[in-house]
Amino acid sequence: MRTQAAILWEVGKEWSIEEIELDPPGHGEVLVELAASGMCHSDEHLVTGDLPFGLPMIGGHEGAGVVREVGSGVSGLVAGDHVVFGFIPSCGRCESCSTGHQNLCDLGAAMALGRQLDGTARHHAAGQDLGLMCMLGTFAHHTVVNEASCIKIADDLPLDRACLLGCGVVTGWGSSVYAAEVGPGDVVAVVGIGGIGANAVQGARLAGAKQIWAIDPVESKRDKAMEFGATHTATSLEAALPAIEEASWGRMANKVIMTMGVGDGALLASALAITAKRGKVVVTNIHPAVETAASVSLLDLTLMEKQVVGSLFGSANPRADIPRLLELYRLGQLDLDGLVTKTYPLEAVNEGYQDMRDGKNIRGVLVYS
Ligand SMILES: [Zn+2]
Ligand SMILES: [Zn+2]
Repeated sequence: MRTQAAILWEVGKEWSIEEIELDPPGHGEVLVELAASGMCHSDEHLVTGDLPFGLPMIGGHEGAGVVREVGSGVSGLVAGDHVVFGFIPSCGRCESCSTGHQNLCDLGAAMALGRQLDGTARHHAAGQDLGLMCMLGTFAHHTVVNEASCIKIADDLPLDRACLLGCGVVTGWGSSVYAAEVGPGDVVAVVGIGGIGANAVQGARLAGAKQIWAIDPVESKRDKAMEFGATHTATSLEAALPAIEEASWGRMANKVIMTMGVGDGALLASALAITAKRGKVVVTNIHPAVETAASVSLLDLTLMEKQVVGSLFGSANPRADIPRLLELYRLGQLDLDGLVTKTYPLEAVNEGYQDMRDGKNIRGVLVYS
């Protein structure tokens, strides 16, 4: 079949909206008609080259839609099922999956190539095979993905909200709840309030944090963080230091969660400076692939028992956590509506990313009619 998709042909270029050729689903694969796709910062990393994936590639990894066709060997889905894509597949059987770490499923190793799991492509344009961001390619009206990337959800949930569970919401929420292990009474600082940081704030609130500091230079984002449950704000790590010191009686933040668009190793010392004894810094944001240096007071790690940990996809189990978070949304305890700043048609994907660069959006969402 033919469908529309946004393709990145070269680093530094704009997304190109084109008609593509889409093959039927192969073994273990499904054809999905997309309803909506979040515009996550990670796709911008393809444009800047910070994520060195093979191009040309169809962007988008935060999608939800309806299964239209299933290939041979698909056991868990039928046509008509509503699904959210996990931006990392989960097979359920590898060592990571079977020990409760679906976010680290071994199938994720195929992501950089962006093809189907058998190494071949279903998407083609201009005589070339196209890669898929996170093996998904949600900047398209239709896509073919592996069953391992699909999480079935209830039919009555709005897909233009559910799509956000495919990356940003679970990543932010899990960074607080699982990676940082925020507990009742904790002082938490979230550094960078975008689609991830806003949900780290929500996770910290649901986990019972006493103080939640939203640190961001953009005033509208700090204001937005207060709506999601932040109790204090600061414009920078430097400004946060004396403020947290005063508000915590010198104990500092038990958990510091780094959720900026692109991290900077030079900021790690400042993050550790606002961290309490036995406190934890969670590195959730992407760093440039070539960056290997970070400023760290190693003595702090020893004398104060501070910890620095990484977190991918919120250290969560998408098959359990996506339905769980959607139930919290249904109960009104998790705000998804407030995350969507603006919706766009696929043709306006470049405009949506410009709005993100300009700091206008918590999350822009592409909605397909
Ligand atoms: Zn993402
Ligand atoms: Zn697995």
